[in-house]
Amino acid sequence: MDEETHSPEQSADGSVVCARCGTAAEGETAPPTWLCSVEDGRRLLFCESCARLHIRAIESRLDSLWW
Ligand SMILES: [Zn+2]
Repeated sequence: MDEETHSPEQSADGSVVCARCGTAAEGETAPPTWLCSVEDGRRLLFCESCARLHIRAIESRLDSLWW
């Protein structure tokens, strides 16, 4: 009986995918150029190009919150 029921669980939490465009990072951790944002308790990652667009929204949102 050779039952190999080892299911590799390295995709759900291990992968790094841009939350905006879906681009996957090459490594298991986000590159330093990527942006990490926490929204509603979930950690979202944005690739370099999306971070440029997203960071402006974050900054503008922070401004409105602070005022
Ligand atoms: Zn992206």
